[in-house]
Amino acid sequence: SKVPPIILNNGVEMPQLGFGVWQVPDDEAERAVSTALEAGYRSIDTAAIYGNEEGTGKAITASGVPREDIFVTTKLWNSDQGYDATLRAFDTSLDKLGLEYVDLYLIHWPLPARDKYVDTYKAFEKLYADGRVKAIGVSNFPVEQLERLTGETAVVPAVNQIELHPHLQQHALREFHAEQGIATEAWSPLGQGKGLLEVPAIVAIAQKHNRTPAQVVLRWHLQIGNVVIPKSVTPSRIRENIAVFDFSLDTEDLAAISALNEDRRIGPDPSTFDIG
Ligand code: NAD
Repeated sequence: SKVPPIILNNGVEMPQLGFGVWQVPDDEAERAVSTALEAGYRSIDTAAIYGNEEGTGKAITASGVPREDIFVTTKLWNSDQGYDATLRAFDTSLDKLGLEYVDLYLIHWPLPARDKYVDTYKAFEKLYADGRVKAIGVSNFPVEQLERLTGETAVVPAVNQIELHPHLQQHALREFHAEQGIATEAWSPLGQGKGLLEVPAIVAIAQKHNRTPAQVVLRWHLQIGNVVIPKSVTPSRIRENIAVFDFSLDTEDLAAISALNEDRRIGPDPSTFDIG
């Protein structure tokens, strides 16, 4: 089950579906990433704060899959924002991963009150110019901070990774991304597997297609153009979540899911979130 790529604004290809490892301890991450690579995933989403860059890197290296066939994302943690601190934090991440470059480096949160994300991003531009990252982007950036960033820096972010699922559809931000050429990447795409997968409309669509609710939600993301990075440590679910390229939702299904928007977050509001 090969995952089709999307083309980022600098021409780099990114698999439209990848594997997320938030809340997976380091040793377990090694197992889970190995299972994911065996199942056909070729994109892995980690972060310095997840504490599992080592396990993730070990699984990548041990897999035997050529490095250039795997798309690796990691993220700069909040306490490392600022130009020099960013360059040091990147070296640490690369070291833990045991890799020579990462495919995508993201500013994890904007922390607007600290006002360091522009300088941080300038360090990202240097890493990009030096060829140590193939693409640079952000995470959890609202429109206001994206506008400031693009106004004061040269490289338009390739990606903004944001909380996005049927209960939080992010229409305004998705529209802004489309205008600016920024890819939308959905975190917690399954709503963290909580109530979302039991919503009657989603269960009904799953029954209609003889699929699972998780597969239906992932299909919805893919068909509206999002990059998705579902997480699981359960091998059968890891395989289930990538087996979504042999069916499609019809316009009626898509409309039924679009009607579920409640603008309801699971995670914090990025405009005020400020920890670490
Ligand atoms: P998710 O929406 O991917 O849900 C994962 C949970 O859903 C699993 O723990 C499991 O309980 C359940 N699940 C998974 N597959 C299932 C299936 N097939 N059937 C039934 N239940 C299933 O949530 P997430 O882990 O929060 O988000 C995915 C990834 O996004 C993370 O691992 C991480 O890489 C990234 N992320 C980024 C940020 C950020 O600030 N940038 C924040 C949160 C998550």
